[in-house]
Amino acid sequence: CGIVARIGAADDAVDELLVGLENLEYRGYDSAGLAVQTDRDVDVRKQAGGIDDLRNALAADPPSGSLGIGHTRWSTHGPPTDANAHPHTDCSGRVAVVHNGIIENYQRLRRELSHAGHAFESDTDTEVIPHLIESALADGAAPAAAFRAAIDRIEGSYAVAAVIGGREAVYAARNDSPLVVGASDSTQYLASDVPAFLEFTDRVAYLEDGDVVRVTPSGFTVTDERGERVHRATETVDWDP
Ligand code: GLU
Repeated sequence: CGIVARIGAADDAVDELLVGLENLEYRGYDSAGLAVQTDRDVDVRKQAGGIDDLRNALAADPPSGSLGIGHTRWSTHGPPTDANAHPHTDCSGRVAVVHNGIIENYQRLRRELSHAGHAFESDTDTEVIPHLIESALADGAAPAAAFRAAIDRIEGSYAVAAVIGGREAVYAARNDSPLVVGASDSTQYLASDVPAFLEFTDRVAYLEDGDVVRVTPSGFTVTDERGERVHRATETVDWDP
């Protein structure tokens, strides 16, 4: 299972997201998917099966955008079906989320959100996250605050990345699950592991448990679990792609 994100100002994200997913194949998976941010919403493509199947499905009509997230799923909650594949979205289709790990308190959150009118489309623990983000956005929170509000509600192990339609940023967080930033001059990356983006950059920042990161095409900012700004240094890794 694995997460990738590509945050650029130009060019299509899909090619690099697919390369990133292929580079994470060694971690094992049963489903794959990606989402690209558009002006108003998010374009999500996902299905059970391999990266090749996803690549073939996209070939006829690839989503276009410079910023996106991708996922290989190793099912823990719900069978490997198209509906359970990530990214997951909220009711408005404005928020897309990928997640590795397990949300321990998802049943309580799902009940609460269902009572508030949210409709769920998968069996996953993950799907509560886009709904939590959307509900904070609907309450008037700015995107970074809405993402933080969702992360503050979930318990368990996670590496999470989210895109929001019309926003030139990816929001991500980790707890007990690996997540690294790949930095370059005009395009940034996020992944569960360095090999995902090593073909594109060898400048890496390792995130720590409790970190929340906002990544834009020009760079990234990190806050710790108390919401305080922290510095996570980049280093050049000496690995062969
Ligand atoms: N718990 C999530 C699911 O079952 C994520 C699994 C993973 O880490 O790939 O969909």
